[in-house]
Parts: sequence; structure tokens; C-alpha cells
Amino acid sequence: MTTTRSNIETKCVLVPDLTDANRNWFAKLVIIEKSPIRYGKDTGTPYQKYIFADASNNTIQASVYDRDIEDLDPILQLHCTYYIGNAWITKIASPFFMASSPYQLTISKRTFIHAVPPDNALPYEHCYQFTPFHELHSFIGDDNTRISILCVVIHALPPRTVPRGNRYVPIQEFVVLNEEKRPLLFTMWEEFLPSKGAQLKNLIPHQPIIIIARPKVNTHHTISIGTQATSIVIFNPQIPQAALLKQWITENTTYMQTVTREKLYDKAHQRVHPPIPSQLREIYAVDPATQQTKPFWIKAEIRIRNNNSRFYFLSCPNPTCMKPTGADIDTDFTCFFCRMTYSRPLARLRFETQLCDNTGLLIATIEDDYAESILQTSVHEVIRMEQTEEQLDIAAINSRLQNTHYYIQVRNTTRSVQFTHNPRYIIVAYLPILPQPHIASTTHPSNTESEASGSTAIPAPTTDDYTSTSRLAIASASESTNKEERSQLQSKHPLDPSSEITPKRHKP
Ligand SMILES: [Zn+2]
Repeated sequence: MTTTRSNIETKCVLVPDLTDANRNWFAKLVIIEKSPIRYGKDTGTPYQKYIFADASNNTIQASVYDRDIEDLDPILQLHCTYYIGNAWITKIASPFFMASSPYQLTISKRTFIHAVPPDNALPYEHCYQFTPFHELHSFIGDDNTRISILCVVIHALPPRTVPRGNRYVPIQEFVVLNEEKRPLLFTMWEEFLPSKGAQLKNLIPHQPIIIIARPKVNTHHTISIGTQATSIVIFNPQIPQAALLKQWITENTTYMQTVTREKLYDKAHQRVHPPIPSQLREIYAVDPATQQTKPFWIKAEIRIRNNNSRFYFLSCPNPTCMKPTGADIDTDFTCFFCRMTYSRPLARLRFETQLCDNTGLLIATIEDDYAESILQTSVHEVIRMEQTEEQLDIAAINSRLQNTHYYIQVRNTTRSVQFTHNPRYIIVAYLPILPQPHIASTTHPSNTESEASGSTAIPAPTTDDYTSTSRLAIASASESTNKEERSQLQSKHPLDPSSEITPKRHKP
């Protein structure tokens, strides 16, 4: 490898020229992301992922596999520039799309790799474009998003296990922040824990700044982010944006302590954001036959569905478990989900609602704080009434709810395709909208879907933490464009602890 610098420079092409038709090439590339060593799901083969950028900020992903890792891992360093030549180029399948190029490089010991001296290196600072926290809600459920987040990690929650597919897996949740002062939960899934989880936990006293590239944005905890297969976490990046954040941290230590002490990252303090138009659906367009794993929004009225079922159920009191139990309300029991022994079950509100818009009707379950705000009655009061054989006045509650429209976020929790004739929906978030007196609410079209989905009594309890609204609180929206709606919804500051359960209570 005696090629001189100038010689190679003239041969170098940009990323768009790197295609599977190009078999003899050199490129000058800077590493802007580097993953730890991971293992193939099916094969167990070790691999390492890189993202390279060229001088025009085109990016291409690269992988090193198996026995090449040991030799190339020490050579290929984050933020260093290399001349790379004749790595194998293949087209990528879209689920693993990480960079701007639809191709990827496979780098091996046969690949030409030559480190570029620092005085001729490519800049990399401009390669990072960060998404503000307040824009995250528009990426919910978009698994293929290539956004990045810059944040400081201030706290680690106790490790816990959650259901994933047919088994329980460990996760680690962190509280992250940036200058926007919107504390966010960041979940590291099991494949990231050995390499990055422990390292990050140890760094927390030093307020580590991290880049989370390609997080999954989801609605657990109103808005939260988590790792997915294509995510890469970069620790303490040496870029100007991180230096600014570092400065902000030194000026906001009191606020950061408050976040941890008062758990401002908790659901009770999180805001529900109104949906963007592309997330809104009319009920007739909700297809119960498809397995809708992503939550969707509808704009509808809510009615309590009086089907003579209980308005509550009993669950494990362990806040990280909350699974249903058949135990009696005043009997100690052992939870076989989390192994908690001899505790009283926790009573939680849960009942069915009918959600109606001008196009149809959907049966959905509502739970916990959301359920309480609809009933305006606590679970203890509901139990007391049951014990004294009093009846909840459902007609009166429905009459109060009439003419109030809500943005309602719904998730299909139907577990198996064989049950799709009987889909189960659960309300995961909702926001009241001011009453709209001109919309007649009494003429909902009778529809067969409601009959089909309404034939169950109380649906079987969901076992998925992420489909449960447990501990969800109602918060105010801040981004409504409707002036009246905004003044109505902003009556409580989102960080005001008293805003925990404060949907506006409308008069009928
Ligand atoms: Zn439990």
C-alpha cells in the first residue's frame, strides 16, 4: 500500500457513486457512528456497524463481521477519516436502512483502509442533525425514522423485565434531558445492556451527554424513546452542540435535581400531544382484521358501555408488574408474574367505552386515571357502591359526556389473528376538545362493527405493559392550534403536580 495521498485523493468518489455496479473504487470517508460488537439474532455471528460520511455529508452504512472485527475494531475509530477502497457493496433490505445510501459496505481485512492524517481529515460536526424533543411525537410508530437525539442522562430507574413476544426480557430505563426541559424516558433493550447499559449507568454521576441515533419513538409514558435494532448510542461526542449542552447542564443543576427528586419524568407530569393530521383516522377506516400494533388517533365522543360488567379489576400492586390476578380484594396473594409474595391486590378501574365519530363506533377499554376522569368517581367509591349494592348512574355520566369531543389514541391489543373477528382496543391517551354544539351527537349510525366487537363482556386482561394505561395521567396539551382549545387545555402547567388528573370537566 504505497499509494500516496494525492494519488488517492484524485481517485476518490462520493457515496452516491458507491453502488453494487462499482467494483474498483476509493472513497474518503469519516466515521460518524460506530456500534459495539453485536450478535446476529439467528446465526449468533458477531458484527459491528459503522456509518461513514463523505465530504458532502452523504452517508453509507458498513459492517464488519466475525474474525475481521478483532483486527479492524482498533483501527476504525469514531470521528477519524479514512481512505477506504474496494469494500464489498451490497444493496440493503429496507428494515435495516440506517444511512442515506441504499447500499452498504462489508469491510474485511482485505479492504483497503488508510487513515487520513488529521490535517487532511473530513469535518464531522455538521453530520449530526438533532431532532428537538417537542417534535418527537410526529415520529411515533415510525420504525424507519433516521432521527437523532442529543441529551444528557441524569438518572437510571431500577432495572426491570417486560414482556417481549413470548418471553420476559430485561430493560434499563434512563431519564434524559436537553435544553427544552422536557424530561424523557429512554429505554435500553436487552441487546444494548451488556455493552452500553452498565457503562452509561456508571457515568451518570458525571452527567454523560449521548447521541441516540435512530431511536424508536413510542407512546409508552406518553412519549418515550427506546433502542431498536438500528440504533447506535454515542457517548460524550466531541461536537459543538454537546459543548453547548454541557454549558446548559452547569447552569441548570438545580432543575436537574428537581427532575429526579420530584420525578418530573413520571407519567403524571408528561403532556399528551394532540395528533398530527396523518395520525388521525375515521372510525370506519379502522380495520379490525389487520393486526394494528401501532396506536392511532380518532376524534370522537366517549360513552360508557353499560354491559353489566364490573367497573374495576384487581391487579398485582408492584408498580413494575401490575398484572391482573384472580385474588380476592382482601386476600394476600402471590403474583406469578413478578413473584411478589403475600400482598393485597390493587383495585384498578377498567371498563368499556363506545367511541363514536360521524362514521362509526368503536368499543375500547379505558383504565385507571383515564377511567376515573370519565367516571369522576374513584375505584374505592366504585367498590363501596358495589358492596352496598348501589348503582353507578351511567345515564347521567353519558349525558355529561355528550357533545364533548376528544382526541383519543387507541391501540389494538388483539393478540392473535384467530381472534380478529373480536378485536380489542384500549385507550392509551386522550385529550378533551371544547364542546362543538353544531355537531349532532345523537345520530350515530348503527353499525355492524360495534355488534361484532361488542359481543364480549370485559375483555381478557392485557399482559403487555406497553398496552396498558396503568399509571397514565391526564395532562394538558400545549400545541393545540385552536385558540379556545389551547386556553382550555393550558389551564394547568404541565409541571404542576396538581395537574395529575385534570382533564377539563365539561358540563353537558
Ligand atoms: Zn406481579
